[in-house]
Amino acid sequence: MSAASPRRRRRLVPAAAIALACFGLGLGAGALMPPAEGWPLVAGTEVAVATPTAGSSATPDPAASSLAAITAGAVPVEDRTPEIQVTTLDLDDPASFTVVVNKVRPLDPLDYVPADVVTLDAVPGGGTMRAEAAAAMTALYEAAAAEGAGFTVSTAYRSYDLQSSLHAGYSRSRGYDAADRFSARAGYSEHQTGLAADIRADGCDLEPCFADTAAGRYVAEHGWEHGFIVRYPADKEEVTGYIYEPWHLRYVGRPLAKAMRDSGAATMEEHFGLAFAPDYEP
Ligand SMILES: [Zn+2]
Repeated sequence: MSAASPRRRRRLVPAAAIALACFGLGLGAGALMPPAEGWPLVAGTEVAVATPTAGSSATPDPAASSLAAITAGAVPVEDRTPEIQVTTLDLDDPASFTVVVNKVRPLDPLDYVPADVVTLDAVPGGGTMRAEAAAAMTALYEAAAAEGAGFTVSTAYRSYDLQSSLHAGYSRSRGYDAADRFSARAGYSEHQTGLAADIRADGCDLEPCFADTAAGRYVAEHGWEHGFIVRYPADKEEVTGYIYEPWHLRYVGRPLAKAMRDSGAATMEEHFGLAFAPDYEP
């Protein structure tokens, strides 16, 4: 099993698709669609042009999403057409929608505070998330509710201080090591990015039974359509560092969510070839 790496290197992954949403060049979709076998993945190559972070469109656009079929896979330089604008997925910047946070990849800075957190006004339970993630969560909720699979947000954005007190509370009641299996230490939580939310339904609150509720099934199947992934899948504790949490949704943006669905990678660590994060570094 891959052990925790020493210090992580800055990692930029090229992606052809991200820039498409802001293209505005009126190009026919056909010219931009990938070949049937998809673009080859060139993970880890640094081809930095622009970062797809804040400032992109607020709501996932179903019309644009077909273009997002060109996703985390990059197009080799020699195969690029002039129309395809290569950009990067930033896995390190805490403000990036594709930041990877786990037990060996703390937020930098540890006390990071997202700048554009808004209230989830139209979703039961409320809470706050970054603006684009909140819009996507609202769309996901409305789509789920229309199918009889509505849910309630338990918590979404959590500050460093709140995460710190949560972990301390769990450590007191369950023991420090046990707490680490389901609760992140402050500075290591996806909730602190403003891109994650815990949801519940049918009285199943933060338990594996959530996966068997209508809401749990809906978000597992359709979350990607709104840019969400179930971040801590079953049987991946050695990869993510966390037990199965079917209730913990992470916004990564639709292009990456679709790319992971297409690649079959269950976790961000596996999709990007990152070191596994079963535990904190000593
Ligand atoms: Zn969570």
